[in-house]
Amino acid sequence: MASKIVEIKKWNVATTWVWDVVVDNCAICRNNIMDNCIQCQIIAATDDNCTLAWGICNHIFHLHCITKWIQTRAVCPLDNSEWDFQKLEKKEIPAVS
Ligand SMILES: [Zn+2]
Ligand SMILES: [Zn+2]
Ligand SMILES: [Zn+2]
Repeated sequence: MASKIVEIKKWNVATTWVWDVVVDNCAICRNNIMDNCIQCQIIAATDDNCTLAWGICNHIFHLHCITKWIQTRAVCPLDNSEWDFQKLEKKEIPAVS
């Protein structure tokens, strides 16, 4: 009787969300970029309309934050280079516990 130990290799397929840039906190409101911006938190926005905004310098901020920021100075808060939007992205992060 041949007993085979079958080892099932379970690939760890935990999908890691890979952004174009290394993101952490929004430098303007200091909230995690994956969270809503401070503005949205204050008004307790439940919907996920807090969009993320990339600048041409590849820095990322909450759209709400950078929109307010560039009303005063149209530069990137992090590197002082001229701010221009590269792309906007809705946060579509699979819920992780
Ligand atoms: Zn922010
Ligand atoms: Zn927001
Ligand atoms: Zn920048």
